[in-house]
Amino acid sequence: MTDNVKLANLLFPDIDKTPDYYEELFPQRDLKEGARVTRFAPSPTGFLHFGNLFTCIVAYTTAKSTNGVFYVRVEDTDQKRKVDGAISSMLKSLSVYGVVADEGVIGENEEKGAYGPYYQSKRKEIYQTYAKSLVEQGLAYPCFCSAEDLEELRAKQENEDIKGYYGKYAKCRDLSYEEIEKNINDGKSWTLRLKSMGDINKKCYFDDAIKGKIEMPENVIDVVLLKTDGIPTYHFAHAVDDHLMRTTHVFRGDEWIASVPLHLQLFKVLGFKPVKYAHVAPIMKEENGGKRKLSKRKDPEAAVTFYAQEGYPKESVNEYIMTIANSNFEDWRRANKDADIDKFPFSPKKMSVSGALFDIAKLTDVSKNVISTMDKNKVFSLSYEWAKEFNPQLASLYEKDKDYATAVLNIDRENKKPRKDIAKWSDIPDYISYMYNETFVPCYDLTGNATPELAVKVLELYKDKVDLNDDKDAWFNKIKEICEPVGCTPNVKEFKQNPDAFKGHVGDVSTIIRVALTGRVNTPDLFSITALLGRDEVISRIDKAITHYKEEI
Ligand code: GLU
Repeated sequence: MTDNVKLANLLFPDIDKTPDYYEELFPQRDLKEGARVTRFAPSPTGFLHFGNLFTCIVAYTTAKSTNGVFYVRVEDTDQKRKVDGAISSMLKSLSVYGVVADEGVIGENEEKGAYGPYYQSKRKEIYQTYAKSLVEQGLAYPCFCSAEDLEELRAKQENEDIKGYYGKYAKCRDLSYEEIEKNINDGKSWTLRLKSMGDINKKCYFDDAIKGKIEMPENVIDVVLLKTDGIPTYHFAHAVDDHLMRTTHVFRGDEWIASVPLHLQLFKVLGFKPVKYAHVAPIMKEENGGKRKLSKRKDPEAAVTFYAQEGYPKESVNEYIMTIANSNFEDWRRANKDADIDKFPFSPKKMSVSGALFDIAKLTDVSKNVISTMDKNKVFSLSYEWAKEFNPQLASLYEKDKDYATAVLNIDRENKKPRKDIAKWSDIPDYISYMYNETFVPCYDLTGNATPELAVKVLELYKDKVDLNDDKDAWFNKIKEICEPVGCTPNVKEFKQNPDAFKGHVGDVSTIIRVALTGRVNTPDLFSITALLGRDEVISRIDKAITHYKEEI
């Protein structure tokens, strides 16, 4: 028996399997050529950040558009940082936006699929099998350095370019079998380190699916693979798991890019085919003329729950994410107005290298468009669901008469040029407030040529003409008929040519009626509003407005 094999048995006496066993247990996936296997690998430490959702949707879309597989693996090797319930809340947030894993973790302590376990905390034996094999081949060794030893090393390296455990600093790299055995018999704890064969003068190359070709110096550090408790570091677990789960494309935050030389080296010493990396830059936000990362601490929109609370429909968020994920999405959308978003040919190559820019004004625009294309029943049911959770007052208004509410939401909807007033369900209470007595707040401010004197005359005439059996043309003709008797013209052009000859034009007349009925100068179709308010309410609001303007004169 060679010293390496003896050492492997000394370090891992309970490991009786070999890598071959797992290679067979988790065979290559039987997928079509070009199919991609991607994953989301969260640590269960908190809520889902918008950046996570973004990366996840990109990974998910890549798998789906190639008939591949998307799975979830939970990276819970640091049990101290674990937050109870984090996984189910993350999975719930993901499913809201249509990201449902084909396999892997599907609930708190729940998983499915043939490549598991998908909780890293349940894979200790697998990692140790690969670790043992590295020791057998002389590619890894135990390190007995204490925290103080490592601190001393850091102090010595203060002025060195390369910092870390390597070369002459790697004190335990060449310990003999006897020295190691003695340390172990003395009960000294150890970590397992990679015996790096990297050369500082050589470069490693890789082609990132997002960032393109990258060249970096090889890794020379003898990094820790297993901690003193036998649990792997992120690096080692990443290599073993993404290999055995047969991941083809690793989408992850670009803070990991500096570790790629190490990761490629690990794939090499473990005898694995390297994965393709796709490093996603953080989502950025403009601030004071500069850019900064979207921040969990400063930006409410960094939490994915924000969108549900505000009532952005999931369709809008998905549409927005694609807008910032791929530069050609908006062109595609213009050319394919009604196409399902899944049909978009997403490409990691068209992602921003420096970070997609988050802009709430753009989200608002996108969402107004999305909502404008929804039919009345969809708008009603989605906003009702939202209201039940986040705005009980709106829910109870709806419940008074659901057909009325649906009709209100249908004003200027379901036509060729629908209005784009609603960006999120929380806009609705204000948007429809004048359609309910409970929430109507009169405001008699006038604009244009309208004056209180003119208003009194217009409203008195209009009051006598209100007939809810009128169709839209008849209704508008009546408004035009009011013009002349009050000194206005029904013809805006005529007014513009000779403004001194008139008190106003038909626009001013309708503004007066609009303000009396809704308290606003801008609303959707006034004819539909009048019809829905009903005769009694219309007359009562006109009366109140007349009284108000008379007092004002
Ligand atoms: N658990 C790692 C993280 O949260 C995952 C990185 C990866 O996707 O490989 O950063």
